[in-house]
Amino acid sequence: MARALKMTCLQCSAVNRVPEDKLGAGPKCGTCGAKLNDGKVRALDPATLAKAMKNDDVPLLIDFWAPWCGPCRMMAPAFEQAAKALGPQARLAKINTEDHPNVSQKFGIRGIPALILFQGGREVKRQAGAIPAPAIEQLVRKSAKLPA
Ligand SMILES: [Zn+2]
Repeated sequence: MARALKMTCLQCSAVNRVPEDKLGAGPKCGTCGAKLNDGKVRALDPATLAKAMKNDDVPLLIDFWAPWCGPCRMMAPAFEQAAKALGPQARLAKINTEDHPNVSQKFGIRGIPALILFQGGREVKRQAGAIPAPAIEQLVRKSAKLPA
């Protein structure tokens, strides 16, 4: 039996359990049917973020950004590129700190963009400032335990 990994649906925030060997098979949310790990960057709200960071076994990298922040906008394509490169073994999502100002305070973020990597209910890595796609990918590969 393959290990079941918890993954919060970034669309409806239901917690799904996906067998590790099915991660690459395009798993969908049992509640709303959204694809769980299609390599696309999704925008989160604070409630979904709170649930995902608490539950998810699959590495979750969050980009804390805002529309007024030039370096944030510059990094956005690199972040999407890294999400594609990492494939189904990790998920990348973003949260708009202008729409949700409380999250910056909650996570003690002083400057954006800021990247925080979560896995298994804890923060495993934090990166301040914009970095290119290969560096984003390496951050996840080096700091998280990627599923098999
Ligand atoms: Zn869902």
